[in-house]
Amino acid sequence: MKATTERYRTLGIKLTPQRLAILECLDGNKSHPSAEDIYKEVLKRFPTMSFATVYNTLEVLREKGGVQALTIDPDRMRYDPDTMGHHHLICQRCRKVVDVHSDVKVDIPEDMAHGFEITGSHMEFYGLCPKCKAKED
Ligand code: ZN
Ligand code: MN
Repeated sequence: MKATTERYRTLGIKLTPQRLAILECLDGNKSHPSAEDIYKEVLKRFPTMSFATVYNTLEVLREKGGVQALTIDPDRMRYDPDTMGHHHLICQRCRKVVDVHSDVKVDIPEDMAHGFEITGSHMEFYGLCPKCKAKED
């Protein structure tokens, strides 16, 4: 936990007990939670927490590069504390999102870049997770 506190302090984020609870919930979280998921989780410890606090904290974190916002789920923005480049796979039925760590590199030829300096890319894979697939069979 100390390392987490340090990490966010380095990002210049003011830490309140409520914010800390949000950060703890995010830390190492591989489920790619939505703001609602995080809100539900921190409510257990801070029953007076408002959804706005969760949302605003996520926005501050995102601006500072402490979390990445994923638009892979058409229903809700999903958050990922892992800000290193990686790809994602989403289950189209239950919306489970998992990491795809691969060296797959998408490169577009310069004449297709419309003059952009490309700083990153993200691949989204769609399908059915094993659980949903089993239900289907
Ligand atoms: Zn599924
Ligand atoms: Mn991820």
